Amino acid sequence: MKEYLTKEQTDKLFMTITSNGCREMEEDRFHQAINEAIHTVTQQTEKIEVVKKCVEYEPSYGWCDVKGCDCEGSSGGAHWRDTGYWTLCSSHGRMAREGKPQPKMKREAIKREKNRDKISGCLP
Ligand SMILES: [Zn+2]
Repeated sequence: MKEYLTKEQTDKLFMTITSNGCREMEEDRFHQAINEAIHTVTQQTEKIEVVKKCVEYEPSYGWCDVKGCDCEGSSGGAHWRDTGYWTLCSSHGRMAREGKPQPKMKREAIKREKNRDKISGCLP
């Protein structure tokens, strides 16, 4: 068990918490209990941080614009250009290079492409 607080620190806590005279628990056991409690809380905090990182993760190319595809984008704007500046994952990019017809795109992606300036190619 990792020691987060020293025996001296937990003794101080013990004195504060039990200052009403209730000193049923041994100081050694208290020291152990406090460190167990901190260990549990610390582990949970670390888990939350890992989950947060996953949720916040945004690949440099963004996500594939093909409807139903959750893959990372690997190229942007190179394929199916007559209909928009699409971000595609590697497998949908291959599909485009093979000359396959364009699948349905995500609604947000269609909406985004509708707002793109036809001449400059910029988004508003
Ligand atoms: Zn895809």
